[in-house]
Amino acid sequence: MQGWHITAPERIEDRNIEESFDVTTETKVMVTKALVTLNDALHFAKGEPQNVPGSYGIGLVSEPGQNLFDLKQGTRVYISPMVACGKCFNCNNNEPGKCSDLRIAGENFNVFLRNFVTTESSNLYYLPESVSDNDALFIEHISLSLSVIDKLDIQKGDHIVVIGANNFGNIFCQLLIYYQAVPILIDTDEENLQCAKNCGVYYTLGKDDNWVKEVSSITGGRMAKSVVYISDGDISPKNAFQLAGYNAHVAFTGLSGKNNSFSYTAAARKQLILHFVNTGYGYISSSINLIANRACNLTKLQIEECSYADVPEMFGKMAEKLSRGEKIYDTIVKVSQ
Ligand SMILES: [Zn+2]
Repeated sequence: MQGWHITAPERIEDRNIEESFDVTTETKVMVTKALVTLNDALHFAKGEPQNVPGSYGIGLVSEPGQNLFDLKQGTRVYISPMVACGKCFNCNNNEPGKCSDLRIAGENFNVFLRNFVTTESSNLYYLPESVSDNDALFIEHISLSLSVIDKLDIQKGDHIVVIGANNFGNIFCQLLIYYQAVPILIDTDEENLQCAKNCGVYYTLGKDDNWVKEVSSITGGRMAKSVVYISDGDISPKNAFQLAGYNAHVAFTGLSGKNNSFSYTAAARKQLILHFVNTGYGYISSSINLIANRACNLTKLQIEECSYADVPEMFGKMAEKLSRGEKIYDTIVKVSQ
């Protein structure tokens, strides 16, 4: 097997990957496309973990092994970007969905910028024809959205402030609308907001708006019943507390693992209920169903594309952008035909 390997800060090399393949439980998949995200760019800039990056991936079954899932050679599959540790208390009690040490693609194991992946057959999900390759690369965005929506107990008509309008924030708002809630999407990046508007998100607030005043006016003075703060951007988390109503729910989430610090005094004053959600583990099948049912529009997202050979150049540009504080675009890499 062959793949792009992060070897040092801002260095990536195409290398051989030694990996065992257990035909009794595992399946070998030829990776066709991978999605590179902000998280990968942050790893590349830091030079760690020294793994094969690529946050999400799809492929074609190459060697099915022995499996119970009827995975035949050539089946198009989505490969789970999260794997339960199998060792913690909850894993040992048959509750991998509550694993306290989830293994994350690119962070804890080599992933998708490589020609083949071997994985337990249970980590593979059949993709119906109605789900395009590009749509499938955003399954985790939908899964994480569903996980957040479940935790916040969102009801029809609820006003939900969403801070951060990257592709994840955009998809999250579209799903809120699908479930008949009312998202108010906030970002300082006009391009992000315009993209969300094109996808049907009605209330958007940009850098020139007075967010507290506008949210108060939209909610009739109640402020938001829930606020979702997406940590991938640069907006201060204190805004989440300002825009929340008394005893509201505030969820901190995001796909990048980026860390933003905050003081909780304002949260305590309003008796807010805080949630931290970093995975959509357990929601993959529901997400595939939602895409097949056209619950959200993934064709207008902000995406760049790149070939396998151009991966070092792409990461170089991302690192430059990071150093200048500019936006990183999700990039689809065509790994093989
Ligand atoms: Zn576990």
